[in-house]
Amino acid sequence: MVTCYRSGPIERDPASAFHGKNQIDDVLRELDIKIIGDTFEILESRGEPQEIYGPKMKKLRDQGRFYDYSKAESLLVQSLKSAREADFVISRPAPEASGGTTSETVMTCMRGVPKLVIIGPHGEGISDNDSTFMIRMLTDYYSLVFNSEKDVIGFIKKHIQAFRRGRDGIRQLFIHIKTANPYVNDRRKPLWDDRFEGKTIIIQGRPGAGKDTQGRLLQDLCGFKFFGSGHELRRLYSKFPNLSESLGNGELAPEWLINCLISNSLIKLERFEPIVFAGASKMPSEAETLIRILNDLKRKLEVIVIDIDEDLAKERITFRRNCYSCEISFCGREFVENPTCPQCGEPLAARDENMSEESVKKIFGWYRTEVEETIRYFENLRLVTHIDGHDSKENIFNKILEILKA
Ligand SMILES: [Zn+2]
Repeated sequence: MVTCYRSGPIERDPASAFHGKNQIDDVLRELDIKIIGDTFEILESRGEPQEIYGPKMKKLRDQGRFYDYSKAESLLVQSLKSAREADFVISRPAPEASGGTTSETVMTCMRGVPKLVIIGPHGEGISDNDSTFMIRMLTDYYSLVFNSEKDVIGFIKKHIQAFRRGRDGIRQLFIHIKTANPYVNDRRKPLWDDRFEGKTIIIQGRPGAGKDTQGRLLQDLCGFKFFGSGHELRRLYSKFPNLSESLGNGELAPEWLINCLISNSLIKLERFEPIVFAGASKMPSEAETLIRILNDLKRKLEVIVIDIDEDLAKERITFRRNCYSCEISFCGREFVENPTCPQCGEPLAARDENMSEESVKKIFGWYRTEVEETIRYFENLRLVTHIDGHDSKENIFNKILEILKA
């Protein structure tokens, strides 16, 4: 029987496990492919404690206990034995977790096994990753790169005959594909321009103006690092128990937290890396801190404000639905009536803060006071360019590109 080892990163919360795991598992079972679970599941089936890896190994490393570290590592290698026997691997290394204490071991164990690697809808797996783990996965002789789970499922179904022949069949298929197109794993940014190097951009505007949408376009097409406060904060929900609720009620995130996330993302940047902050600096004091950090980093700020009137803003957020899998939102009556993501098929959800009249009122209140004052602060520093937001997203994007190239 053909077997698949499917894995998220080794060092991750077992509860959050493999993104879309059930979807892939169901399809594999339908196709009569046996699933060998990831390291955590293997450990569980062997009755070994799950916490031996990841955090535990990190702790051992940090305490300088290398003998115990080696013991834990050899247990990991043991548990990966069954993985090594798999005919192919599906993996989605989490950007923030991979490349730590165990991934090198995993890579060594997986040599020669065909890999289907998922890098996420915006290539976050590559761009947010400080380690070489992901790039090793991607450049592996027997690896193919996919953006999403859905793409992987489609690929397996399309080539099911090759998959049925087991590891050799899959290897031949991969070699065939890569010989025909050596660039098949590339994810080039088609609109990258040298003039973007080292840019620091804020996109500001009323809710529904399309800040995230434009930021994501800069990320996907131009190679900007993307920073969306909402996106960053959602990743921290498990660490801040009250954050989800207060943001859902239309409150702003604590200023220290936003400053910390922003400065952290800026410090990590290389000099040439451009970054776009979608909707950042909601308060004048946040803006002042940002300017101070940028001065020290010798980075220059450009602020683009997408202007839409309040009626359109209210209409847009009423009809806005978000796909948490693709990390993009869609606007329109059709998505309210049929909340399914046109890109990945996952259910769409409305953002909590847009659901009650009270929190919407609060958000627009913040905009009229804090955000507009912040924009004026940036205007006094002559950093702002306004764009009319009553236009298609393509036209707005082209205007932004013009500004950035000027
Ligand atoms: Zn989606």
